[in-house]
Amino acid sequence: MRRLALSLLFAGTLPMTVLPAQVTRYVRYSAGGTTAYGLVDGQTVRELSGDLFTSPRPTGRTLRLDQVQLLAPVTPGKVIAVGLNYVTHLGERPSATYPGLFAKMPTSIIGPEADVIYPADATNLHFEGELVVVIGRRAQNVSTADAPKHVFGVTAGNDISERDWQRADLQWFRAKASDTFGPLGPMIVTGLNYGDLLLQTRVNGEVVQSQRTKDLIFDVPAIVSYISRYVTLEPGDVIYTGTPGSTKAMKPGDVVEVEIEGIGVLRNRIVKR
Ligand code: MG
Repeated sequence: MRRLALSLLFAGTLPMTVLPAQVTRYVRYSAGGTTAYGLVDGQTVRELSGDLFTSPRPTGRTLRLDQVQLLAPVTPGKVIAVGLNYVTHLGERPSATYPGLFAKMPTSIIGPEADVIYPADATNLHFEGELVVVIGRRAQNVSTADAPKHVFGVTAGNDISERDWQRADLQWFRAKASDTFGPLGPMIVTGLNYGDLLLQTRVNGEVVQSQRTKDLIFDVPAIVSYISRYVTLEPGDVIYTGTPGSTKAMKPGDVVEVEIEGIGVLRNRIVKR
């Protein structure tokens, strides 16, 4: 309503481009034994029915945001990730000429406030705060110019990584794709300029990563276009875009937060199995 009023107020006096872009926030939640998608409006969640990516419809039911349990905001069919995508994370390594891809498992995904399990034989578990892309339209061999049309929105993610396994194993499978190694949320936001958002990671309140997404080596359109040359992206698939700066080992009991401007705080506790 406020937006409509603004539009009417300024109609004919300002070009439309001056008006802020429509920013919409979506959550997935559980409340009273029901799991649903919802639209966040201030402190209210408006329940949606139908497919989130094609025909979400408000059911008319509303709940208070603080009375629902937020879940991972999407249940992806595929979880794809880009490695070494900020100059500050490269160290001595040379910059790649194309995005370096790997996969996480859908079973690695957990929501806000859910526990990250520190596996019994793990010794070197690191955080990786990242901007995560949520695909909204099937993408097959799309250009960088068309790629944004296939992006539904963005959220925050933590690409939890067991560094010793990452170095020693044949592939990064166990190091990156173990259960609970993919915190995601707290909400999917559409209409944000995801090309320039501040990303911060905190461990027990201390800032350990801080960088803007404009510093991505391969930006969101380049990543989506590149992946779509090889793998068909479907609505609900997610892409972790890479982590900035350096990362550190966490220990059981630590609380790790990934905050992205306009998206919110993704908070998870590390718990020994
Ligand atoms: Mg990563």
